[in-house]
Amino acid sequence: MGGQVILTNEVDNYPAVPHVDGYTLAEAMRTQAEELGGSIVMESALSITTDPETGTFHVTSSDVESTCHGLLILAGGATPRRAGFDGEERFAGHGVSYCATCDGMFYRGKRVYVVGGGNSACEEALFLTRFASEVILVVRKDHVRAQASVARQLDENPKIKIEFETTLVAVGGGESSLSWVSLRDERTGQVHTEKYDEGSFGVFVFVGRMPRLSLVAGMVDLDETGHVVNRRAYGHAGAGSLCRWRRSEQGPETDRHSSLRRSHCGDERGSLSRSTGRGLGQLFQGLHNPW
Ligand SMILES: Cc1cc2nc3c(=O)[nH]c(=O)nc-3n(C[C@H](O)[C@H](O)[C@H](O)COP(=O)(O)OP(=O)(O)OC[C@H]3O[C@@H](n4cnc5c(N)ncnc54)[C@H](O)[C@@H]3O)c2cc1C
Repeated sequence: MGGQVILTNEVDNYPAVPHVDGYTLAEAMRTQAEELGGSIVMESALSITTDPETGTFHVTSSDVESTCHGLLILAGGATPRRAGFDGEERFAGHGVSYCATCDGMFYRGKRVYVVGGGNSACEEALFLTRFASEVILVVRKDHVRAQASVARQLDENPKIKIEFETTLVAVGGGESSLSWVSLRDERTGQVHTEKYDEGSFGVFVFVGRMPRLSLVAGMVDLDETGHVVNRRAYGHAGAGSLCRWRRSEQGPETDRHSSLRRSHCGDERGSLSRSTGRGLGQLFQGLHNPW
């Protein structure tokens, strides 16, 4: 139990808990829920149906069938969006990764490519400089969109190189690791291939996340990005990664963005902490929707 947060050994932004690892935090939540009378069923929900007449939901798993009266909270999380280059599926987990915290240490002293130009990609690129000898941020547009403090650190970090207006179009290699990557210059359309020793580099993809909502397809309203829109009249609510995190609702600090181009970055001061500002806060955004 615990979802993504159990993958981290450092959570600093949970209210009233200064420093905790994700597993301990999840276990504490479980204990508290049980002490308050909640029961926990460790099953995968296989189907969810609703009966508008009675206002009930039926949730079925392989072993359990339960009926829910009142409110059903959906919190199935999200999966990383694929970038769509050739070889991405084939090498996922074998040189192509979607989690810097999980896999960053495997690239100590090696080169990594980071695909994406949003705040997450920039933060993860910075995080990867702790391990990698060089981090090449591959950005389709002519700028990255990141918090001012993040943009400033990107600009100042000597390990980071940004390839603007460039698309990573293909990777390839041996049985279980990469040996080449192909990049297209969006200004000229030219594709060139960079070759390395097998296993000497990696590709990290941070191009967004897709809410896991297949079980409730057609049952919930979604916004234009595929996230749940909660409405007072409904008997269900989306929570966590299923809802969209709107920066403007998180206070002024996170709302200061900077668009970093080749030699320009925001000038606002601030420090980057990998463990602040997102994630668990999303849960509250979901639950605080206008009920
Ligand atoms: C390495 C790492 C470090 C992080 N560090 C921080 C941090 O320091 N601070 C922070 O705020 N955020 C952090 N985050 C982000 C945070 O973990 C996520 O934002 C948060 O976990 C999202 O919660 P969630 O409940 O929406 O989804 P998830 O955590 O993805 O949980 C979804 C759960 O639903 C379950 N599920 C899915 N489908 C079904 C089904 N059909 N039936 C039953 N169960 C199902 C999954 O198994 C999973 O347990 C980190 C994330 C990672 C990966």
